[in-house]
Amino acid sequence: MRIVRACAEMGIRSVAVYAEADRHSLHVKKADEAYSLGPDTVAGYLNAHRLVNLAVATGCDALHPGYGFLSENAELAEICARRGITFIGPAAEVIRRMGDKTAARETAIAAGVPVVPGSDGSVANLAEALVIADQLGYPVMLKATSGGGGRGIRRCEQPDDLRRNFDRVVSEATKAFGNAEVYLEKCIVNPRHIEVQILADNHGNAIHLYERDCSIQRRHQKMIEIAPSPQLTTEQREYVGRLAVQAAQTVGYRNAGTVEFLMDKDSSFYFMEMNTRVQVEHPVTEEITGVDIVQEQIRVAAGLPLSYSQEKIAPRGFAMEFRINAEDPKNGFLPSFGKVTRYFAPGGPGVRTDGALYTGYEIPPYYDSMCAKLIVWAPDWEHLLQRSARALRDIGVFGVKTTIPYYQEILKDPEFRSGKFDTGFVDAHPELVDYHPRRSHRELAAAIAAAIAASVGL
Ligand code: ADP
Ligand code: ADP
Ligand code: MG
Repeated sequence: MRIVRACAEMGIRSVAVYAEADRHSLHVKKADEAYSLGPDTVAGYLNAHRLVNLAVATGCDALHPGYGFLSENAELAEICARRGITFIGPAAEVIRRMGDKTAARETAIAAGVPVVPGSDGSVANLAEALVIADQLGYPVMLKATSGGGGRGIRRCEQPDDLRRNFDRVVSEATKAFGNAEVYLEKCIVNPRHIEVQILADNHGNAIHLYERDCSIQRRHQKMIEIAPSPQLTTEQREYVGRLAVQAAQTVGYRNAGTVEFLMDKDSSFYFMEMNTRVQVEHPVTEEITGVDIVQEQIRVAAGLPLSYSQEKIAPRGFAMEFRINAEDPKNGFLPSFGKVTRYFAPGGPGVRTDGALYTGYEIPPYYDSMCAKLIVWAPDWEHLLQRSARALRDIGVFGVKTTIPYYQEILKDPEFRSGKFDTGFVDAHPELVDYHPRRSHRELAAAIAAAIAASVGL
C-alpha cells in the first residue's frame, strides 16, 4: 500500500502480486493491476525468478521489494539487473556485503565506525563459541548472521546458556533464513536502539535524515518507534548521523538504508547492523523531515539526484509510530488472526495510518501479526504524548485482539513519558498488560442483559 500510494502520487502505474491467501488485501484492490502468485502462502513471495518473470511479462520497468521477504535478497537484485528491470534498492554486491551481519561488521570496522565487541566473523561450533564468550565476558548475544525481525537472537548469561542455545539458534537460522551461520557479540546491558535513516544517489550525494529511537521492543522486535530520539543531545545526533553516512559511503551505498546502533549507558555508540531497504518505521522520519522516502527511492533508482541536500533537512517536532499487531497482550502476545468485524480509522491533526485494515478484512494466519501502523506527529514531546493517547482512543479495531490497549498503558507510564527508556523497558514493566479489556457496545449490552437476566432469576 505504501508503494502503491507513492507511485500514484508520481503518476506511475503499479502492479501488485499476491498469494491466494492475500487475495482480499487492500494492495490488491488499490494497485493498477494485480496478479496471483498461486496457492502457496509463502513460497510464491520467495520465488525471485517468478517475480521477475511476472514483472517482465506485465511490462514493468522497476521492482520495489518492500520490507519483507526478499527485500534484502541480493539474488533478486541480480536477477532484476540481468532481465533489464530496475531494482529499487542498492546494488546486489552491496546487499551481500551489508545484509550479512558479520560482513557488515567488517565493513563498519574498515570505515572507522565502532562496532559491538564480538567474534571475528562467524563461529564454527560450540567449543569455539565458549572460548570466544570467555574472552568477551558474559552476558553475550548469540546471533544468526542473516537474522532479521528479531529472530535468531539469544542472550546468554553463562556458559550453560550458550550450551543450551547453540544448536537451537543454528537450526532456527537454517529454517528461517536458509543460513546456519551464527556469531557472538558482547551484550550491551540495557542499551538504547538508535538507528539512522540514510539516502544516497548515483551522483555522489549521501545524506542522513536523522535518527529513530526503537528501544521499545519485545523479544528484540520493535513495537514503538520515535523520531527524533528524546534521549540524544544535538551533538550526539550530529555525531551518529555522520557515522552512518560514513559507513554508507564506504560501501558505495545507493538508495535508502538504515544504519542501526546501540547506545550504552555511557552514551557510546556501537554499530549493530545495516538494513539495505526501507524499514517498517520509516514514516516517523517522513513526518519530522517532510521527505517522502519511498518517492526518493524511486527517483534515485531512476537515476535522478536526491531532492534534498543535508542542509535542507531540518527536523520539526516529534513523531511516534505504533505497530498495531493482531495479538493478545494479555495472553503472551499470542497472534489473534481472523475477521476484522469493524474498523474505524483515526483522524484529526497529525495522525496518519499506514496499513491494510478495513471492515470485513480477514487477517490471514500465515504471516506476521502487524496489520497497521499508527503514526502521530506533534510539535513537541508533551503534545505528542497527548495526541498519541487521543489517536489510540480514536482508532477502532474489533473482531481481533490488538496491541492498542497495551500501547495506551505504555503512554501512561512515567518512565516512558520522561523520554528516558532502554530496550529492557517492556520486560521491566509486566504490569502494563493488567488493563481492563476495552469491550464493544455489543459485548457490553450482552453482559448487561445477562446480569439483568440473572438478577431477576430468568
Ligand atoms: P528491522 O527490525 O530490521 O526493521 P523489522 O522488524 O522491521 O526489521 O522487519 C521488517 C519486516 O520484515 C517485518 O514486516 C517482518 O515481518 C518481515 N520479516 C522479517 N523477517 C522475515 C522473514 N524471515 N520472512 C519474511 N518476512 C520477514
Ligand atoms: P534484527 O536483524 O533482528 O533487527 P539486530 O541485530 O538489529 O537484529 O538486533 C535486534 C535487537 O536485539 C536490537 O535492537 C537490540 O535490542 C537487541 N540486541 C542485538 N544485539 C545486541 C547486543 N549485542 N547487546 C544488547 N542487545 C542487542
Ligand atoms: Mg535490526
